[in-house]
Amino acid sequence: MTQESFFLYATILLIILFIVALALIIYKKKITQREHTITLLKEEKKDLIKQHLNDKLYWLNSLHEGFLEVDENNTIISLNNLAQSLLKNNAKLEGKPLFDVLHNPALEKSLRQVLSATEKTSITLILPPAPSAHKTQGNETAWQLSVRPVIKKPKYKQLIFSDITHGYQTDQVRKDFVANASHELRTPLTIIIGYIEGLLEEDILEESPKQAKKFLHIMHKHGQRLERIVDDMLMISKLESSQTNILKEEEFSLNECILDVFSRLELIKREKEAQLTLAIPQQLTLFGDKFYWTQIFFNLIENALKQNLHPGLHISVGGELTDKELQLWVSDNGIGIPQAHIPYIFKRFYRVETHHSQEIKGTGLGLSIVKRAVESHQGSITVKSLSGIETRFTISLPKERLHSPKVFNHEQ
Ligand code: ADP
Repeated sequence: MTQESFFLYATILLIILFIVALALIIYKKKITQREHTITLLKEEKKDLIKQHLNDKLYWLNSLHEGFLEVDENNTIISLNNLAQSLLKNNAKLEGKPLFDVLHNPALEKSLRQVLSATEKTSITLILPPAPSAHKTQGNETAWQLSVRPVIKKPKYKQLIFSDITHGYQTDQVRKDFVANASHELRTPLTIIIGYIEGLLEEDILEESPKQAKKFLHIMHKHGQRLERIVDDMLMISKLESSQTNILKEEEFSLNECILDVFSRLELIKREKEAQLTLAIPQQLTLFGDKFYWTQIFFNLIENALKQNLHPGLHISVGGELTDKELQLWVSDNGIGIPQAHIPYIFKRFYRVETHHSQEIKGTGLGLSIVKRAVESHQGSITVKSLSGIETRFTISLPKERLHSPKVFNHEQ
């Protein structure tokens, strides 16, 4: 090989090597670039998934329903805050077997029932209170638990807890009301029917008209009681109806309204040798439904008279205007209401059992009517009682209810 051709080959070899090296560098760069792109894409995907999960969680938490998703092994995939609070478990629950994290046997039973159902099922579930739910009277909450398949993942299931507490509570109250009302109506009805049968069977009408008249008086008394219970029930249901305009509002003299109640109760006041005092310093003109205010004062004053069998009772009706509201009260110095009963006395048909309960025939609806009538005037009522010293029912009303606030201005 000549020197010339050696240089030629060497040059060609070097060029080839250079080209190979260049190709390798370009290839490496491309690989690095691709890896970088893949990493970027992966990160972007991760961000997207994270964003999607956050969006999903945000959306799920904004639902008014509890949401819980499980896979085919009943492992929790996702859940919202409400579902978490219903499970009463604050730990991170995603990824855990559903039936390992439950504390409530009733909830567990219901969940097993809906998850094992082959068809779309829903059941009602009563649970202890959850923060966002309405509370029932017994502090329980009611839920409709339903299950549905996930379209994209057929083996997954979604559980939905819908809050039905309000409807459940209304239903309970209605059931209680019907049961209590039937019970209250039955007693006078049974008595009246008993006396009618007595009159029919024993020919008392002909043989002993005096006795028959006595029977008729008793029947009349119980007939009146029936009438009072029915009237009270109608009044309660009217006050509780969702109708907004049940009040016939007008301006009227509160003092005259109370004095009218005094005169209606004059007979029983005399019988009881009681004293009634109107301690409102000035003439007050109230804006409201006079019929219901008469009923409010009648029920409160009649209760004080009815509950106290001994002479020397003093009942006083007073009023005061504070910075924020108008306060009206009815107080007496009678036997009072035992503390244990105070939380319940505004409930329908609630009566304090006392040694003289048999003699005092109330409907147990008087104070519920008072409370609802006061509330329908945007007011509230409270009671404090110290036996033999003072039992005071205080009504607080917004100042706007008072037609002429200046009548209370003591500086005048
Ligand atoms: P009732 O028709 O039995 O009077 P209410 O709802 O008016 O029903 O009153 C509920 C219970 O509250 C009464 O049974 C009575 O025991 C008690 N009560 C109400 N007011 C008084 C009062 N001024 N003094 C003592 N007990 C009272």
